Amino acid sequence: MDETNQPEVLISREEIEKQVRRLAGEISRDYHGKYPLMLGILKGSFVFLSDLVRMLQIPVEIDFVRLSSYGAGKVSSGKVRTVQGLRSNVKDRDVIIVDDIVDTGLATSYLINRLHRKKPASIRVCALLDKPSRRKADVHIDYRGIVVPDRFVVGYGLDCDEKFRDLPDICVVED
Ligand code: IMP
Ligand code: MG
Repeated sequence: MDETNQPEVLISREEIEKQVRRLAGEISRDYHGKYPLMLGILKGSFVFLSDLVRMLQIPVEIDFVRLSSYGAGKVSSGKVRTVQGLRSNVKDRDVIIVDDIVDTGLATSYLINRLHRKKPASIRVCALLDKPSRRKADVHIDYRGIVVPDRFVVGYGLDCDEKFRDLPDICVVED
């Protein structure tokens, strides 16, 4: 935050758009002739998913799950749980998990494990941001947007205590 209480911009909306377009191109190419299920992890992925699906050149189905791993503020509790599960039938489907950021990787790997039991045809991970410095669970990101340093980022769907999800740029909040 600066004196005006505005978080400092780390990734501009123009750069975000460029990266989302690139990811949409890669997914459209790889899933040509298919009808994948895009599974957004709430709440953080809601902005990313809505921009991403509008740039795709293939038809997709969309569903959401809501996971919770963070308590209040910036510290992950490390314990992931499902707050709202998915409604779609996943068996034999090509599933693409859409995540805002892979940080420790615990939330994403928890979801991958749970999905495997439902016998999908395939599971891939698309994450706008990758913060590799704090990884605890080994997660392969098939479609990766931007690598970020070990700073707490907000905006474009990401929050700090439910604030700043509405910012169009990705910004950093300091301690
Ligand atoms: P995990 O640590 O990879 O399990 O991340 C779980 C979730 O924590 C992410 O999907 C985000 O919603 C949130 N998260 C992790 N790092 C940040 C951050 O820097 N800013 C805002 N949310 C974050
Ligand atoms: Mg969050």
